[in-house]
Amino acid sequence: MAKLLNDKGHGSNTYPPSKGIAAAGGVPAMAEHSFNAAVGDEVERLLKGKLTTYGAQPSNRADVLLASRIANYNAQYRSDKNSIGMSHHGNAGASSVRGFGVFYWHTSANGKKLAQMVLAEYKKEFPGYPIWGTGLFPCVPGTWTDFYLVRETVAPFVLIEWEFFTNHAARKLMLTSDYRMRCGKVAAKVACDWYGIKFDDSKLVVATKPVVKPAAPKPNPVTKPKEGHKVDKPTPAWKVEYDRQSTLAKKLGFTDGTKPTENTSREESGVIAARVYEAVLNELKK
Ligand SMILES: [Zn+2]
Repeated sequence: MAKLLNDKGHGSNTYPPSKGIAAAGGVPAMAEHSFNAAVGDEVERLLKGKLTTYGAQPSNRADVLLASRIANYNAQYRSDKNSIGMSHHGNAGASSVRGFGVFYWHTSANGKKLAQMVLAEYKKEFPGYPIWGTGLFPCVPGTWTDFYLVRETVAPFVLIEWEFFTNHAARKLMLTSDYRMRCGKVAAKVACDWYGIKFDDSKLVVATKPVVKPAAPKPNPVTKPKEGHKVDKPTPAWKVEYDRQSTLAKKLGFTDGTKPTENTSREESGVIAARVYEAVLNELKK
């Protein structure tokens, strides 16, 4: 059994007032929860079919109280003692500070191991990217690192600060879907490594927008010039009639001038098509 407790830090109603920043330094605003959710969503997507995930904070939904999230994660852990947890966040601080950092409970050997794996994978995915301090932070009671979630969860649980949204250059990076997806990949890869599950990121390509193919133009004998005709000839009479009928149809409400604002039935459309066809045929016979 194996399960990743995948915590998307904060709900959609946390910014405003807090957990985010207005546009500054030529870089747009950012709500922390949107970043956290994007990373968490990518983790879920990449792990589908590989590893069960559970998140107590749904994406783009009102904030679920931390106490209730913790209770849910602990209930999950009780039903599967092999569970591990990751909580995704953007960091805040002085605008000059930036870098990646991960927190673990100071007495949890597994928590520390998990944190070290996340840091190592981050460095591998983003060589040379700034690391905040050593990148590894034990959560110690009675200090600023005494995080409620890390302290109260019974599973090995790490809290990941993927970068500082208060630093303009870092926020610019955090606003890109490329960075969000690759952070998700780092987390998903570590979760797979933890359980010895093979991870391939071939699913990454799916994340790009689906290519919408334009519908193939239907062959339209009506507008096809007859043999020997040049396309730049003056508009043929049948075309004038066709356009007139179409315009009339649009203007008058299609069939007989009644119901100008209502939708057209299949039958009425058929009548229009038949009329146009007839008009075209007549012209071609001339
Ligand atoms: Zn946060």
